[in-house]
This record gives sequence, structure tokens and C-alpha cells, in this order.
Amino acid sequence: MKKVLIVVFCVALTIALICGLQKSDPDNGLQEKNIKKSQPEKSKMEKVIKTEEEWKILLTDTEYKVTREKATERPFTGELYYNDETGVYSCKCCGAELFRSENKFDAGCGWPSFWDAIDKYKIIEKKDYSYGMIRTEVLCAKCDAHLGHVFDDGPNPTGIRYCINSVSLSFKKDSTK
Ligand SMILES: [Zn+2]
Repeated sequence: MKKVLIVVFCVALTIALICGLQKSDPDNGLQEKNIKKSQPEKSKMEKVIKTEEEWKILLTDTEYKVTREKATERPFTGELYYNDETGVYSCKCCGAELFRSENKFDAGCGWPSFWDAIDKYKIIEKKDYSYGMIRTEVLCAKCDAHLGHVFDDGPNPTGIRYCINSVSLSFKKDSTK
């Protein structure tokens, strides 16, 4: 009886080994690689979140008041108002590229004005009821910095005017080729 059991056990073991060998698939590694490749790219828009104290260290008093407390700089005082060089305007707080010099125009209002943004997803528009007016506030989508306001009295082709505090922006001149 014991012999029979041993034989049955050996046969079962042999079958199990054969099945195991058949299952091994040389393409398994390749399939894993392909799955990794086809995964979607991680979103480039990662929020920049800092405490008030951290922003105070990074920004000047005026920059902090305008970008984090929604103050407005005095008109015709911003250093970028008269800037007509070719380049890109970024968020003073997080460096997100927001506007291009090609879209800047002189609206005569005293603040840098743009008729379009580099990418509308980089900007958040929010209704603003302060000072008894109904306006649309413009914020940086990445770090929520207050940039200015947007109006619908801009030039063609968009008809909109982003009226932006100079102090909310950093300017980087295009490198000459
Ligand atoms: Zn920002």
C-alpha cells in the first residue's frame, strides 16, 4: 500500500513540474515594460503651497501685499509697465510662465496689459465683489498668487484685457540667437 502511495505521489510531482515549466513565458518581462510605457504622463500642473510666513521670506513687502493679500500697486509705478522687450512674463511667486511680450499692449491704464495668456489653464478667473465693483480677478493657477483683473475691453483678436500688477510678474528676456 505504501509503495502505491509513493508512486502516486511521484507521478503527481512530475505532472506538477511539467505544468510549471509550460507556464513560464519568455514575453512576460516585455509585457511589463510595455504597460509601464503606456501609462499617462503625470500632470505638469503641481500646486505650489506655502504658508504665509514662507511667502513673507521669499517676497518683498509690496510683492507679498499684492500677490498674497490682493492689494493693487499704484498705476504707472510698476517697472514692467513700460517694458517692451521680447520675452516671457512669469509669476513672481512660483515662476509659472503666464504671458508673452507679443500679447502685451499699452492700454493706458497704468498696469501691464495683455490681450492673451500663454495658456488659459495657467490662470484662474474668479468673481471679485470688493470695493463695490463686480470684477473678475486673475490668479496664478499654480500658486494662487493674485495677479490682477481681466476685462472685456481688450483689442482684437480676443477682445480681453488682462490688467496685471507689474509686481506680480518677473520678466525674462528671450536669449538672442
Ligand atoms: Zn504662481
